[in-house]
Amino acid sequence: MIYADNAATTKMSEAAINTMISVMNDNYGNPSSLYSFGQKAKEILEEARNEVATLIGTANPREIIFTSGGSEADNQAIMSAAALGRKNGKMHIISSAFEHHAVLHTLERLKKEGFEITLLDVHEDGLVRPEEVKEAIRDDTALVTVMFANNEIGTVQPIREIGAICREKNVLFHTDAVQAIGHLPINVSEDNIDMLSASAHKFHGPKGVGFLYARKGIKLTNIIEGGAQEKGRRAGTENVPGIAAMATALKEACASLNENAEILKKHRDRLISALNEIPHSALNGDADNRLPGNVNFCFEGIEGESLLLLLDDKGIQASSGSACTSGSLDPSHVLLAIGRVHDVAHGSLRLSIGEDVSDEEIEYIISSVKEVVEYLRGFSPVWRDLMAGKTPFIL
Ligand SMILES: *Cc1c(COP(=O)(O)O)cnc(C)c1O
Repeated sequence: MIYADNAATTKMSEAAINTMISVMNDNYGNPSSLYSFGQKAKEILEEARNEVATLIGTANPREIIFTSGGSEADNQAIMSAAALGRKNGKMHIISSAFEHHAVLHTLERLKKEGFEITLLDVHEDGLVRPEEVKEAIRDDTALVTVMFANNEIGTVQPIREIGAICREKNVLFHTDAVQAIGHLPINVSEDNIDMLSASAHKFHGPKGVGFLYARKGIKLTNIIEGGAQEKGRRAGTENVPGIAAMATALKEACASLNENAEILKKHRDRLISALNEIPHSALNGDADNRLPGNVNFCFEGIEGESLLLLLDDKGIQASSGSACTSGSLDPSHVLLAIGRVHDVAHGSLRLSIGEDVSDEEIEYIISSVKEVVEYLRGFSPVWRDLMAGKTPFIL
């Protein structure tokens, strides 16, 4: 099997698994218990917090709140900024059109509660323009939230510039960095970030654990009420094995970040140039400002779902931008946001490769995709009409 869906989730690293097992076996105490066995678990928790804080460029571990993952961190960051805004009569939030649903759906909820939401255009290249952020900021803007890197098309946003604008205008800035952390260099201080969301399972850690970075002084609203864990900011007995494993995974990912990026970029660019040879196809998102392991294409005249199933038969695990598989007929909001029309957006393929992929596997992916696209077009009525000139080609 060739696993090319690392944007959906990653395989846990051996070191992270070992950390998790050892904590589960030897340190299963409750960090809130006062006896020494509980306090040992507490120590593990705080070591992980220090580690994570250092790895994202802050000296203050109290700015790290452990959560159940990226979605919870996004919810907490946005709901907190909204609560602060409401208190100060600031009811306007700025975001982008192609955020993860954890952000977009939270914003929809706030809209129902009376907030005004501005979604910035991400243009054809999948990039937010910092000057457009600047123009959109108003006196009543409570928050700007723009993702670090997009989960479908991999485009990497000018986060530092956007952060600088927010600093200058005195507006809170949150970034969903779930796809970026452990894959791109991130430093919350240098990148002018007030709040950042992360999830362990996107960087070879376990599922169901993540964290929110919130700069000192930002009052957080609880999403989960209960005990006084996480300094009263997130109730519930801490997932100590998961948190410890997350710290191990992040440390490992950051230590080999440049090396991994080099390897991935080489494979990525080979995939891009080879798949570009397929007639009536197009890369989605900017070719350079993108995650080292992300390739996302549209192929005219086919359905992404059929493409995925046939690739699966060939042992290749990939993903499509289309949400048809999840019961919706709408194509990906991300592909629509970069201006792909419905028919084209339906024929998309995302390959998110891992560091351990070989040259041979990349060549096998290329020949398989070419073969499957040609095969599907062979009996596609849409393709027949395109070829007959009944409908014009878009790509
Ligand atoms: C995966 C992902 C999330 C959600 O993270 P979970 O830990 O699965 O809740 C949020 N944002 C982005 C960009 C993601 O890729």
